[in-house]
Amino acid sequence: MTLLGAAEIRELAAALELKPSKSLGQNFVHDANTCRKIVRIAELTTDDVALEIGPGLGSLTLAMLEEAREVIAVEIDSRLATQLPITAAKHADTPEKLTVVNQDALTLKDLPAEPTVLIANLPYNVSVPVFLHLLEIFPTLRSGVVMVQAEVADRLAAKPNSKEYGIPSVKAAWWADVAGAGSVSRSIFWPQPNVDSKLVGFKRRPTPGDEILRKKVFSIIDLAFAQRRKMLRSALSSMYGGSAAAEEVLTAAGIDPTLRGEALDIHAFCAIAKQG
Ligand code: SAM
Repeated sequence: MTLLGAAEIRELAAALELKPSKSLGQNFVHDANTCRKIVRIAELTTDDVALEIGPGLGSLTLAMLEEAREVIAVEIDSRLATQLPITAAKHADTPEKLTVVNQDALTLKDLPAEPTVLIANLPYNVSVPVFLHLLEIFPTLRSGVVMVQAEVADRLAAKPNSKEYGIPSVKAAWWADVAGAGSVSRSIFWPQPNVDSKLVGFKRRPTPGDEILRKKVFSIIDLAFAQRRKMLRSALSSMYGGSAAAEEVLTAAGIDPTLRGEALDIHAFCAIAKQG
């Protein structure tokens, strides 16, 4: 198997007359070592059905095909989705392991097989909603590694009482343990982005409640962080019909009503939601 280097990426882009789209976050990796490293960190095995979002020209896809039982790649850009099986046939030893789905990842509801591991260099402008959507709709996804903008990576992996902690961190924590998994140099991308990227790893764990509780918890989280500087009793007042009522709910949940959302972990948000 030969992975894609700078020359192959340039060649493929030229053949497709591809002008990378900013709005689709098209920055392609042209470094085989980075692709193999990501797959190694994700601990892909021959039992895994690996899901990739935004395979682009196939840099990571080829590295995934070396290890997984099956690879499902979801790409929104039909030119790239059409080219990918051709690239796999040329470079991979087992191209038949690849299934390409030409779709917007945000609208995914199901896939040809149940994915077990996620590996993706996510398009920067939808990285958080795509990540949360996948955790929600594919309970079989047990772990994974995604590459995102450094700032987004820090937010996803943040813990309470840090300035990066916010909606993405606490919502992701409903589904999984999320942690930083290293930095990636800008020089491995074509075109080179203006921001740094980082890797984020996740491991799923049992959720703290059912879907009814999750929806309630997520609404509380949205309100708690809508105005970060507000104390919880006032941030949640619209939900409970006034700040005195909100204070009662918070006290009953064992939470100091003068705290701000940034002080609460996912379990504390669940305690509030369970008050009804
Ligand atoms: N994985 C490739 C790599 O590492 O070289 C490309 C990564 S590039 C950062 C993001 C890819 O996601 C592009 O191929 C883009 O067309 C695709 N994309 C953008 N928005 C998408 C969406 N909503 N659903 C699926 N793919 C999307």
